[in-house]
Amino acid sequence: MPVADHARYCEMLDRARKERFAYPAINVTSLTTANAVLRGLAESRSDGIVQVSTGGAAFASGAAVKDMVLGAVSIAEHVHRVAERHPVYVALHTDHCQADKLDTFVIPLVEETERRRAAGRPNLFNSHMFDGSALPLKENLDIAVKLLERFRKSDLILEIEAGVVGGEEDGIKASAAAKLYTTPEDTLEVARRLGAVQGARYLLAATFGNVHGVYKPGHVKLKPSILKDCQDAVVGKLGEAARFYLVFHGGSGSELHEIHEALDYGVVKMNIDTDMQYAFTRAVAGHFFRNYDGILKVDGEVGNKKAYDPRSYLAAAETAMAERVKQAVKELRAAGTTMAR
Ligand SMILES: [Zn+2]
Repeated sequence: MPVADHARYCEMLDRARKERFAYPAINVTSLTTANAVLRGLAESRSDGIVQVSTGGAAFASGAAVKDMVLGAVSIAEHVHRVAERHPVYVALHTDHCQADKLDTFVIPLVEETERRRAAGRPNLFNSHMFDGSALPLKENLDIAVKLLERFRKSDLILEIEAGVVGGEEDGIKASAAAKLYTTPEDTLEVARRLGAVQGARYLLAATFGNVHGVYKPGHVKLKPSILKDCQDAVVGKLGEAARFYLVFHGGSGSELHEIHEALDYGVVKMNIDTDMQYAFTRAVAGHFFRNYDGILKVDGEVGNKKAYDPRSYLAAAETAMAERVKQAVKELRAAGTTMAR
């Protein structure tokens, strides 16, 4: 199917919240990882979200170029082309972008979409995240409202974050004093400010003890009930139309019952990066340990071309990552839910 258009993406999100499942939103940094996501989704008959971080996008443009915008465009173009050959819908999203990077990442990508639309072409991305969680809430929302007003004109969805997700992602460390739990008061303010932008849509990454990266069991003290408190506060004050579409960040290593509880409270998108990185690299490590003699030219030998051809281990990595995507789809209750029929 083609990459979901705005109407389809909205329908995807509506359905997920109503039916209490979520889409895996998986970070990709290369053709191979993007292909793995499409394959895993297709084999699960689930729609999903492909996302690119600032660092992942810079990587995708090549170490000599390191251009976040170029890399993001390049991955998105690839996904637009290969998605057509998969029987599910995917949406394209950009991950964490802090305020100081908006002008060099999100805004140029929005301009690219604006140019495309002016030429009668589809949007490049469906949604972008602005991460103002390091700022005071008012500043965070001042920026978010401005962005949302612009996004609305181009059928783009904005994801914002209130509260701070712990841990480290893409070299960005949350401070020790981070607010790991969003409060109902904060989310009420989010709903008031962003809900005032008529006809626009946004997603909220509320934090409930989530941590980026993966930690041993017990390290992460998730309190999904915070999400329910926030929804109840907002719906109570502003009505059902204000109910949030929530995003779960930093969910690697979470218990299944915690994930399911979060889905029950309106999580429609769950970001998955660390677990995918491990699945991919685990397969590469297996290949290298199994084929050590063939990969290295030992004692004047010539090695085994079949073992050191990068396609051999990248194909194994693609398969392993696709399997991990399928596991995520199952955990998020999304298997078989595709709207592409
Ligand atoms: Zn995140």
